[in-house]
Amino acid sequence: MKTMTCQELGGACDKKFTAETFEEIAELSKAHGMEMFQKKMKHT
Ligand SMILES: [Zn+2]
Repeated sequence: MKTMTCQELGGACDKKFTAETFEEIAELSKAHGMEMFQKKMKHT
């Protein structure tokens, strides 16, 4: 299992992503970024 934060992936918050592979974490991060964008939430 790998855990990375949004911040470590170049994002602005400290949300944690946990997955088996880096590719999966990248997908989770991407989905998270999209969600923030769609909700027009301030991504901090
Ligand atoms: Zn984030």
